[in-house]
Order: sequence, then structure tokens, then C-alpha cells
Amino acid sequence: MPKIQAPVMKNEYYDVTFEDLTHEGAGVAKIEGFPIFVENALPDEKAKIKVIGIKKGFAFGKLIEIYEESKNRIEAPCPIYSQCGGCQLQHVSYEGQLDFKRKQVEQVLARIGKLDLTKVKVHQTLGMKDPWNYRNKAQVPVGEREGGLVAGFYQKRSHDIIDMERCLIQQAENDEIVQYVKTICEEYGIRAYNEEKHKGWLRHIMVRYGLVTKELMVVFVTKTADFPHKNEILSKITEQFPQIKSVVQNINNKRTNVIFGDDTKVLWGEEYIYDKIGDIKFAISARSFYQVNPEQTNVLYDKALEYAKLTGEESVIDAYCGIGTISLFLAQKAKKVFGVEIVPEAIEDAKRNAELNGIENAEFAVGEAEVVIPEWYKQGNTADVIVVDPPRKGCDEALLKTILDMKPKRVVYVSCNPGTLARDLQLLEQGGYETVEVQPVDMFPHTTHVECVAQLILKEGN
Ligand code: SAH
Repeated sequence: MPKIQAPVMKNEYYDVTFEDLTHEGAGVAKIEGFPIFVENALPDEKAKIKVIGIKKGFAFGKLIEIYEESKNRIEAPCPIYSQCGGCQLQHVSYEGQLDFKRKQVEQVLARIGKLDLTKVKVHQTLGMKDPWNYRNKAQVPVGEREGGLVAGFYQKRSHDIIDMERCLIQQAENDEIVQYVKTICEEYGIRAYNEEKHKGWLRHIMVRYGLVTKELMVVFVTKTADFPHKNEILSKITEQFPQIKSVVQNINNKRTNVIFGDDTKVLWGEEYIYDKIGDIKFAISARSFYQVNPEQTNVLYDKALEYAKLTGEESVIDAYCGIGTISLFLAQKAKKVFGVEIVPEAIEDAKRNAELNGIENAEFAVGEAEVVIPEWYKQGNTADVIVVDPPRKGCDEALLKTILDMKPKRVVYVSCNPGTLARDLQLLEQGGYETVEVQPVDMFPHTTHVECVAQLILKEGN
């Protein structure tokens, strides 16, 4: 193998000053222009590092000693932060995290999207007043250690399950229930599933929590359809936590990392719990998609609604609509909303949710946005406003081209990946749109995820 040209050597120590953070939250220092990525280091910090790996064009390092700390550095509040890997930014003050997210969006829009930041306003990230206990869903693997059950998380870069009593970004009720279920199952001699041997029974415990309604659902993911000591276990759990409205079993008999199997049955109570985002009520089943931070989802969708500037006369398309969350938000202010989504079960949920809220001006279609929307256009159907909320890979080019042909007055782009947002904004700008403003929203405090909503308007003369 040819030797990689680099100004640093493996296993050597260097003194560096960090300049930046990667989108994964690692510090970036440069030696003779050569970038070195170091976990847990922050911009402006001076430190001693050890180079632990060299690749073409960059290296990895390990933080050995910090000489000068960043003003944003704090002690991570979570005692298992370094083992878990679920959070990446707990060592950064919350203000620092919000700054980091805004800067990252700016950098990516300029670098990938070639957007002129003197014209596009990127606002400060909208954060949470209390950025803890925000997750409404716990999905916890169960294992065995020294004869007892453990329920927690997979240790970073391994498949060992570490027991976890408390996750600081999780609703406290969810953690309490997981621990209680674990203890009761242990009392009745329940065996955890063993991945290697494909033996045992209990694979995962999942708890979902309705932030507004306080309703709870517990899901047992098991290898087989039986349920040893079912009545005893269920009555203990539901007596201990009267807010539980639903207990469900999902059966997954496959050798797989995928959590859920295809069979789901209600063991106790209802099939759904309910929650509200803004004025809209949602029915949540064990398998439905539902945003994990509904408080910030409300903030994000309010922004999307503001950017859509609806007067009640508009016809709106909501592409990648999931269970219709944004569609139903928009329907309150639009003449008509058409949602498109690829997963048939999500569209069933969307229709049910429309009915649940008495919303009659929203229609939903199953299919690929890049196929369904061009088809609509061919049939002469257009929209005044298009909202897109694609997965990480961004919008398909065929969809963006149809938007350029259809020429809605406004496009609202909701994105969970600034990189693909930037790429798609560039294409829309080249086709006659102007990006007016971009609002990052912190949906996942203490992680590196950044969610954004962008407002585009059709330039005059197009
Ligand atoms: N707007 C929704 C969900 C956004 S997540 C909400 O706020 O809750 C992105 C969604 O796009 C997922 O539901 C995914 O199933 C869907 N999706 C992925 N590829 C798609 C495609 N090509 N066409 C339509 N929907 C797609």
C-alpha cells in the first residue's frame, strides 16, 4: 500500500488549537492545513492530542490534555455520557449548542448550496426552555447479566447492553416504567433474548408517552407469541402506573437488528394512545411514526405555517407527509391540502387523524412524491404553496423539476439534513426561486441533529 502523505505521524503527540466542529460534533484542528478530527474537543480550545489514525486527506486524534478550555465547555450532566453515544454535545453549554447548529447551517448553505448569506437570513436556532426529558419514546434492548435482566443501551461500538436507570433526555415516566417492567419480569423468571444464540424471549421494552394527554403505552417485543405469567405481569404494571392506557405485544422471531416484527397484538386496554401538537390530536399505535419531541415539533410546524403565509384560499401540497402532521396543521389555514407519502400505513394514520380532528379539506395519496406530484401536474393540478419534508437524502430531482414547472408562489422546505437542503435550495434558486430565510429548530438537544425550515418565494418574472 502506498504511504499516505501527511504532515503528522501516527502515535505522535501534537499541540493544536481547534477551529471548528464537524457535523458529528468532533473538534477540528489543522496542522499545516491538514485536518485532524478529535472527539470531545471544542473550537478555540488549545490542547495536546495524539494522532491515532491517518487517512487520505485527514487524520483522527485523541484528546490528551486541554491547556485552554472553550467558554462553551461544561461538565456533561449525564454520568453515562461517554459510554452511551446517544448524545454528542452534552459537554457544550446549551447556548453553545444552539450557536453550533446555526453556524453549521450557515456554513453548509454557503459551501454546498453556494447561497449568498448576505441575502439569506439564517436565524438563531430555536431551542427549548428546558432541553431535558424531551423524548416521548423509549426503546430499550433487554439482556441478561449474572442471571439478572439488564435494560438500557448498547455500549458505544459494541453489542453489550448496559443497564440504565435514567436517560436525561427521556421523559422520566418512560424510564421508570422500563425499570419497573424489568424488575417485574425478573421476579417471574422471564428470560431476555440472546442475539447470538437466538434464544430467550424478551427483546425490547418500548414506552410511548403523550406529552399533552399524559397517556402511556407499553410494548413488549418478544421472540415468540406466548406470554409467560401474562396476567400477573400486566396487572402489576397497570396498577403501578394508572396512566398506562395500552399494553401491546409485538412478535419478532427473526435474527435481525430491526426492532419490530410484523405481528402486533393488543394485550390490555386500547390499540392507540393520543397526543396533541398545537390544536391537532393524533392517534399513536405501537408502530406509527410520531415525532419524538412534540414540543419542538410544534415550534417547527408553527414556523412552517408562518412561512406558508396561508390566507384560506390556497391549495397546498405536503410532500413526504408521513402521518399527515404538517398537512393537518396547514389544513386549518388553507383551502385544500394534498399529502403524499410512500408508506401506506402512514397514510392510513393520516386519514384517521384527519377524521379524528374533523378536518375535511385534506386528502392523502400513497406513492413516491417524485412520481405522484408530476402525475398531478400532468393532469393539470397545481398548488399555490408546496411544503416538502423529505428524509435525510433530500428531494428527488424529478420532484424539484416539477416544482419549477408548477411554479407555486411559495415553497416551504422542512429538512433534517442541512447538506441535502443546501443542494436542493441551489437547484430551486437556479430555477427562479429565492431563499428568503432559514430557521434552525432544535428538535434533539444534546445531539448533533439539526432540523431547519426554509422559506422560498418565486421571483418576479418567473
Ligand atoms: N412530514 C412528516 C414526516 C417527515 S419524515 C412529519 O413531519 O411527521 C419523511 C417521510 O418521507 C417519511 O414518512 C418517509 O416514509 C417518507 N418518504 C420517503 N421517501 C419518500 C418518497 N420518495 N416519496 C414520498 N414519501 C417518502
